[in-house]
Amino acid sequence: MPRTLDPELRRALAARIRYYNEMGIYDFYRRPQSDRAREVPIAVDEEETAVSTDQTESGEEMSPRKATAVAVPAAMEENIFEVIALKPEQSVSDPVKALKIIREDLGDCTRCVLHKQGRKQIVFGVGNPAAELMFVGEGPGADEDAQGEPFVGRAGQLLNNMIKAMGIEREQVYIANIVKCRPPGNRTPERDECATCSPFLMRQIAAIKPKVIVALGAVAAKTLLAMSASMMQLRGRFYDFRPAGIRSNDPNWDGCKLAVTYHPAFLLRDPRQKGEAWKDLQMVMKELGMKAPKSAT
Ligand code: URA
Repeated sequence: MPRTLDPELRRALAARIRYYNEMGIYDFYRRPQSDRAREVPIAVDEEETAVSTDQTESGEEMSPRKATAVAVPAAMEENIFEVIALKPEQSVSDPVKALKIIREDLGDCTRCVLHKQGRKQIVFGVGNPAAELMFVGEGPGADEDAQGEPFVGRAGQLLNNMIKAMGIEREQVYIANIVKCRPPGNRTPERDECATCSPFLMRQIAAIKPKVIVALGAVAAKTLLAMSASMMQLRGRFYDFRPAGIRSNDPNWDGCKLAVTYHPAFLLRDPRQKGEAWKDLQMVMKELGMKAPKSAT
């Protein structure tokens, strides 16, 4: 049952959040339950503009300009987070402008250790800002890091072929990754790196408002769905997806479908699974009312 916040308190909270927004702070983090045991009416901790629970692997804190901690009684959380989840790009309807705002907010990101582990550039995402279909991979490899575009190496060539087999062009979809910087030696991104970077992807998804997202591989699937399961368990069905941490203010978009399939790099290693991946894509095509060209069937 939604709890109603006292209107006076809600106004005061909204004013405080606007104040933080004007200072360039948009992300707020809950304190751990233990710290919130004290039921204070409403207190935004002004001293604690950086959050200890969201430190990066190296122990560095997130930029104090971007994050603050809010201490609130548990009973008020639901309404409060409804208020504070609005992102700056949500005031524009043009997805091109919205993506630009998100890119600017990301800046020359140093929020996690990947920024100092050899990345050449941030790989933000590419494609149609109003795409009905989005593909989300794990993170840039060497080719993507060099070119600043996701999926341009060998795995990217296979993804292009998969997209073509669906009867569409790469330019019609949007492609992004869970992490935007290349993990050294193409290692799997760490959980905290995914947690630090994925809010920007969530914002990209909310700006693009796709009808279907295809998660490529386990890292993308587990991060987007916030669940842990094997690829076998994850594939073969649709999930109802809403970008975490974002309140949709668009009555015409309240999330989308999400399907999971094998990562193209895995398919390069085990081509026998291509048939299974094709089944996943056919499920997506049916959802989008697409017909495969004759050559692909
Ligand atoms: N693998 C990914 O997950 N993403 C890319 O952009 C390239 C390879």
